[in-house]
Amino acid sequence: MRNQEAARCLLCRNARCSAACPVHTDVPACQKLYRENKLNEAGKLLFDNNPLSAVTCQVCDWRRYCLGHCVLGIKGSPIRWYEIEQEISEQYLFSCHPEKAEPNGKRVAIVGAGPVGITAGIRLAEKGYTVTLYDDNDQVGGVLRYGIPPFRLDKKYCDEYERILNELGVRMIWNSKVDQYLTLSHLILQHDAVLLGVGATKQNALGITGEDRSSVLEAIAYLKNPSGYDLGKKVIVIGGGNVAMDACRTAVRSGCDTHVYYRKTYENMPANPREVEEARDDGVMFHDFKAPVEVKEHSVIFRDCENYQDENGRTKTRILDGTDEEVECDTLLVAAGETIDLSVFGKTMPQLNEYGYPIVNEGNMTSIRGVFVAGDFILGAKTVVEAVESTKTAVAGIEQYLG
Ligand SMILES: Cc1cc2nc3c(=O)[nH]c(=O)nc-3n(C[C@H](O)[C@H](O)[C@H](O)COP(=O)(O)OP(=O)(O)OC[C@H]3O[C@@H](n4cnc5c(N)ncnc54)[C@H](O)[C@@H]3O)c2cc1C
Repeated sequence: MRNQEAARCLLCRNARCSAACPVHTDVPACQKLYRENKLNEAGKLLFDNNPLSAVTCQVCDWRRYCLGHCVLGIKGSPIRWYEIEQEISEQYLFSCHPEKAEPNGKRVAIVGAGPVGITAGIRLAEKGYTVTLYDDNDQVGGVLRYGIPPFRLDKKYCDEYERILNELGVRMIWNSKVDQYLTLSHLILQHDAVLLGVGATKQNALGITGEDRSSVLEAIAYLKNPSGYDLGKKVIVIGGGNVAMDACRTAVRSGCDTHVYYRKTYENMPANPREVEEARDDGVMFHDFKAPVEVKEHSVIFRDCENYQDENGRTKTRILDGTDEEVECDTLLVAAGETIDLSVFGKTMPQLNEYGYPIVNEGNMTSIRGVFVAGDFILGAKTVVEAVESTKTAVAGIEQYLG
């Protein structure tokens, strides 16, 4: 047992860490195997429950999940399970060769090679389905490869998932965007079921004057290829989520004087608090209660904001007139939230809910028979571990649908 943290674990019968985990990782069982030095068994347990455990143990907000719910944390220091999980799952991932069942004659198309595509590809191929994976990029990973910067997540994990998918016989078709040319209807005709895991890639606009200037960039586009952009000396990032944090940390690393402006307080920031702290440590400056109202040629006009209680007692934020402040910058990176792009459905549009997301049954099947959805495409911009959990639901739905 290399990590002595495991010796402190109480192996709780009703473990709060497992209950709080979106994929319900059986922490006590894994800790026990780890103590007995059965790393391979522990790794298999993790992988079979969550093929992405080698990634989620690094990018999850542990304080929200396992760490924040450890019973030892009530009076003292909680178990850092994610460290042990990383040791176990990393060793397993880089040496495993998952087995494939006899082909069952059913064909499934998966659109999107991010966490959904990886999880579903592995799960379905292991069960004997003939899987074809389509993606408009040219490698496995989705946001893991083209969003989260390498200083937070090494791309070797994506390469390893690509190896496993290859070994399982998953056919991968790159640079293929499913829209009006390669259509969903075509995929439906060619396959017994289709799973859409195309993420939430559409950046919300700020809706302010001057937003169409060339100095304004979508943070998601920037993160996909940071070296392809010359941001100038001073960069302003708008937003308080994971995308904003990764964008500001990438910009500051490339030598820019980087500032994050956010319309609420730090506590309201949806980003993982660990990332906000690390961004500060990297030298990013934060300005809260500031909303952009206009982009000029080399500057942005901000107004102050304040919190107030609405008639239902909810805390809201409003912009204060007469508080204009002009702040110079060379580039404005916008990370004001992401939403889904329905163009993947082409002319075959399913029923949508009031928020514009596909309505699904308990197995994540849309109103189009045989078409399933998972990950950010159904949840909105969320997290890797939640994408894995919703993919497990969709895989169970596909299995049930195909008998
Ligand atoms: C910058 C950034 C940082 C993040 N940081 C964290 C973090 O620290 N921790 C965490 O848990 N979560 C984080 N997230 C969220 C997490 O990455 C997502 O929740 C997760 O990747 C969702 O997985 P997915 O498979 O649904 O979608 P994605 O990862 O977005 O993958 C979708 C794939 O589908 C492809 N695609 C899209 N449309 C089409 C089409 N029409 N045809 C073919 N292919 C298509 C895309 O190119 C992409 O490869 C972050 C997200 C971003 C953007």
